[in-house]
Amino acid sequence: MLDFRLESELEALRERAAAVAAEGVAEFGAFTDSWINGYSKDFSRRLAAEGWIGMTWPTEHGGGGCSNIERIVMAEEMISAGAPIAASWFADRQMGPSFIKYGTPDQQAEYLPGMLSGETTWCIGMSEPDAGSDLAGLKTSAVRDGDTFVVNGQKIWTSFAADADFIYLICRTSTEGPPHRGVSELVVPMDSPGIEVRPIKDMTTNQHFCEVFFTDVRVPVENLVGVEGAAFKQTMTQLEHERGGIDRLVSNRLLFDEAVAAADTSDPVIRQEIARLETGYRLGRILVYREGLKQAPAGFSAATKCFCTEHQQRVADFAAGVLGLDGLLSDQTRRFINYAPAYTIMGGTSNVMRNILGERVLGLPREPR
Ligand SMILES: Cc1cc2nc3c(=O)[nH]c(=O)nc-3n(C[C@H](O)[C@H](O)[C@H](O)COP(=O)(O)OP(=O)(O)OC[C@H]3O[C@@H](n4cnc5c(N)ncnc54)[C@H](O)[C@@H]3O)c2cc1C
Repeated sequence: MLDFRLESELEALRERAAAVAAEGVAEFGAFTDSWINGYSKDFSRRLAAEGWIGMTWPTEHGGGGCSNIERIVMAEEMISAGAPIAASWFADRQMGPSFIKYGTPDQQAEYLPGMLSGETTWCIGMSEPDAGSDLAGLKTSAVRDGDTFVVNGQKIWTSFAADADFIYLICRTSTEGPPHRGVSELVVPMDSPGIEVRPIKDMTTNQHFCEVFFTDVRVPVENLVGVEGAAFKQTMTQLEHERGGIDRLVSNRLLFDEAVAAADTSDPVIRQEIARLETGYRLGRILVYREGLKQAPAGFSAATKCFCTEHQQRVADFAAGVLGLDGLLSDQTRRFINYAPAYTIMGGTSNVMRNILGERVLGLPREPR
């Protein structure tokens, strides 16, 4: 028999996280996909005070030195409740770990403290109008001029660009060789002259997305993270951080709870569907834990992301069916339902995740080009 209950210390952490999440929701509201839509710097400071930003980072970098499982337990409570953790989430999940792995000591000293205290917000500049899934096709250029890079180009779908202090920019420093060569990562302060941010409203009225235009933006060479022209591997590591987490599973758990509470459970078809979805949560959680315990094969986070985000879409379909027109009357429910297509796009589409699983994890043959 497997015992799926949490050990007492993790249970205590879960209870504390649930209490703090409830306070956050009471004060700032509950959000769909709260790690991307629930932006509150005040709440991020509160997370910092609890030691819940950089929880798993090594202590020598100011982190908590906790296990991945502790972070998963804390984050599941926050996101399931819809608590507004977005202002610090990207920094906690991937920018901090990137600096710890690839940054210089000066960069670590400069950027990690602001992340850990919840003071700085980071956005990620990867996608471009003609380079989303095919990231290696990106064109935003950074050309060396003395002790600066001069950046020109455009990013799109950049979440929080309008609020962020820094953009972690994936750009091209060389056009020589195959497309994945010549890619570099730069830290660019968002108040640099030459940056223009244009927010985009999505169909649910969220406004985290932005277009970001760079015109002759000067960035000091010491803002280069890792190796010039060889950052594609670094970026792929970041995407690994993005894909296998609990944020991909429980972003609309509130909607599930609302639908179950309203469902006619005397109907056997509805009971079956609830059981199927609850089973999906448990399977998804096992996949996420396996990522956290580093027991999954390399690249498997693509499969974890695929399973978990498609599960979230099944939750939204179920809720739409159960809540019907009543659901459309609630602003929050309507947003949750209409937002669902985003889950299998952001962080890499399900098609692309299946390609990674087939080619890199299972080693299936590629279609000849
Ligand atoms: C909520 C949300 C937040 C986001 N936040 C950010 C952010 O902060 N920063 C950022 O940089 N980006 C962000 N993105 C953008 C996201 O990463 C891209 O939308 C995603 O990578 C897909 O790229 P694309 O939109 O250009 O679609 P495309 O790459 O043009 O894909 C279009 C369609 O073609 C399919 N397709 C493409 N290539 C293949 C292939 N090789 N095999 C099979 N099918 C394929 C795709 O599956 C998709 O169905 C966000 C997106 C969303 C929805």
